[in-house]
Amino acid sequence: MRKQVSFVVVMLAVAASASLAQSGGQSAAALTVIRAGTLIDGVSETPKKNQLIFVRGEHIEKVTEGSATIPPGTKVIDLSGATVLPGLIDSHTHIFLWGEDPAKGGYDANILKAGIALRAARATFAARRALEQGFTTLRDVETEGAGYGDVEIKQAIEEGTIPGPRLFCATRAISTTGGYNLEGYAPELEMPKGAQLVDGPVEARKAARQQLEHGADWIKVYMTHRSWVDKQGNLVSQPTLTVEELKAIVDEAHGWQKKVACHAYNGIGLQRALDGGCDSIEHGLEITDAQIAQMQRQGTWYCPTISPYYGDWARADTPEGKRDRARAAVHEISFKKALQAHLKIVYGTDIGGMPWTEPMAQEFRQMVRLGMPPMDAIQSATSRAAEMLDMKGEIGVIATGAYAEVIAVAGDPLKDVGELEHVRFVMHNGSVFKNDLAK
Ligand SMILES: [Zn+2]
Repeated sequence: MRKQVSFVVVMLAVAASASLAQSGGQSAAALTVIRAGTLIDGVSETPKKNQLIFVRGEHIEKVTEGSATIPPGTKVIDLSGATVLPGLIDSHTHIFLWGEDPAKGGYDANILKAGIALRAARATFAARRALEQGFTTLRDVETEGAGYGDVEIKQAIEEGTIPGPRLFCATRAISTTGGYNLEGYAPELEMPKGAQLVDGPVEARKAARQQLEHGADWIKVYMTHRSWVDKQGNLVSQPTLTVEELKAIVDEAHGWQKKVACHAYNGIGLQRALDGGCDSIEHGLEITDAQIAQMQRQGTWYCPTISPYYGDWARADTPEGKRDRARAAVHEISFKKALQAHLKIVYGTDIGGMPWTEPMAQEFRQMVRLGMPPMDAIQSATSRAAEMLDMKGEIGVIATGAYAEVIAVAGDPLKDVGELEHVRFVMHNGSVFKNDLAK
C-alpha cells in the first residue's frame, strides 16, 4: 500500500517540477506547511517549540513561529505531537555490502557468490532501507568489488526509478598489493579484489583519476588492513599505502575539488594518513595525543563507526577474539579523547558490514554511551556532516533555502536518543516518503 502512496507522491512531485519549469518561477510549486511540535533544526543548541516549516518544491521557503498565517488552501502536515529534525546523514555506509557473518560465508561470499544483478538488487534494498529510517543522505564509501555500481544506483535514484537517499559515492576504493580481500586463496589463482590495488605513486594517481572520471564524489583509501594483538597485548595494524602514494591521490582528488576518506586503525598507517593529507579518518581505533593534535591542526574529520566493533566477537581465547576485544577497548579511549579535543566528529555506521536489516540509528546510542551529548550526536549526523560534504546550509539543517529533508519521531531524542531508531515521518527533497504520524 505504501508503495502506491509514494508512487503518487513521486508523480505529484514530477508534475510540480514540470509546472515549475514551464512558468520558470518558484511560485508555481505548491506550498506545503509542516507544523512541528518540537523542532531540532540541526544547528541550534536548544529545540524550539511550535514552529511552522514552509516547503515549496524541493526547498524550505521559511521557518516561522506557529502563530504565523498559513495561506488558505495550503496543505498542512500536522506533526504538532512530534519532534521534527533534519534528514539524517550517515557518512560511512556500503550499500553494496550484505553483511560479513562467517556463518553466511563472510565477506568473500559478497564477491564470490553474488552476481552483479543480485548485488544491484541488494543495493536497491539498502537505499530504500536508509530512506525509510530517515537517512536522507549517505556518503557511501566504496562498493566492495561492485565497480562503479554506486554511481549507477545514484543515477537510478536521481531519475526517480527507485527510492533512495542523496548519495555521495566513492566507487572502488584504493589499497595496495597485500592490502585488501579477497585473500587466503591459492597463490596461483587470480582472485577478484574488493578494492582497486595500486603500487607506487604513478599507479595511485592513475587509479584516483579513473575513479574520478567515472563519477567518484569522494576517494576512499585503505591506509591499514590486517590487525592483530602483539606479544605485549597491543593492537597492531598493517600499513598499506606509503605517504608518497597517498599524497599523489590526495593531490589529484583535491585538484578536482574532491576529498579523500582514509580507513585507518592506528600506528604507522594512521600516521601516514595524516602526513599524506587525508580529509577524514575512518574508524581511527587508536589515535595518539600527538595525532589528535595533528588532526586539530589539519582540520581532519573523524568518522569513528563504533557499532560494528561490538558485534560478532570471536572466542576470547583465540587470536581473533583477543583482537576483537582490543579494538573495542582502544576505540572507546580514542572516541573520548576526540570528544574532549573537540575534533570534528561525524556520524557513521559502516552498515553493510553489519546487515542492512539492522537499525542505522544504533550508532547514536554508542556515541551517547561514551559521553557525547545527544544534541552533539544529532549534529554529527546533520549540520556537521553537511559541512564535511560541502553542503553546509543545504542539507542537515531546517532553515530557509535548505533542501526540504525533514524527519520526525514521536518522542524526545534528547531524553532517549534511541527514539531515532523509530523515525515515523520522512520528507526527501520536498516529497513525503513516509508518514506514520500525521492526522
Ligand atoms: Zn567501511
